[in-house]
Amino acid sequence: MKNNKTIKEMCFDGRMEERIKKTFNSEGCIICSLLRDDEFELLCKWVGNREKEEFKQRLLITKGFCNHHFFNLEKLCDPLGLTQLEKLLLQEFLREAERTDKEKTEWLIAYRQQQYNLSDKNICPICEVLSRNESEYIRHLTNFLKDRNNMKLYHNSGGLCTPHFIKIYSFLEDKDIKDKLFDIQKRHIRILLEALSGFVNKKDARWKRTEDENKSYIRGLLKLSGREGTKWR
Ligand SMILES: [Zn+2]
Ligand SMILES: [Zn+2]
Repeated sequence: MKNNKTIKEMCFDGRMEERIKKTFNSEGCIICSLLRDDEFELLCKWVGNREKEEFKQRLLITKGFCNHHFFNLEKLCDPLGLTQLEKLLLQEFLREAERTDKEKTEWLIAYRQQQYNLSDKNICPICEVLSRNESEYIRHLTNFLKDRNNMKLYHNSGGLCTPHFIKIYSFLEDKDIKDKLFDIQKRHIRILLEALSGFVNKKDARWKRTEDENKSYIRGLLKLSGREGTKWR
């Protein structure tokens, strides 16, 4: 990841704390923001290495990426690179369909399970890393918030989207910290609601909207459901 260090190494040398603190200055959810950076790096890595045999073999096992990451990849990949990837996977579909001795419905259900991440095995290679990173970030942020000074910093940050708030809240054990986190979540939502009201109330005088109000409908979406691709489970 950042500077080629794994997340565990970053936690160990304190860089993770530094990275989390920096993310407090970003607009939206802290966890989503960290994952968005990771996701971009992972996509670039796959685009850069798509010709390598080990990357191809990995994709043949997982039947490609999940729908979300296939479309994200399309934004970064050149058409020729994407065509090669599509050819590889579609040819493999035909090869497997010819080779399988399973009943066809059974074979298709197994294929679908892999393609849509319905099983825990062989999930999309980008989702797999992001899910691991997300757990690490949640664990780290939970510990970070146990410090009263850090909680003050969090109070003025972009906070958490609803899916990540629920995950972190359920992870915490101390009642005082949980209550504090809940209060801050409600405060962040009230501030956002004010901006959303401004957006609606000024619909006939759009030029009077503040920049914050203009962006509020996107922030509302991110608050409710997290960044694109966020999983609730
Ligand atoms: Zn989030
Ligand atoms: Zn994915």
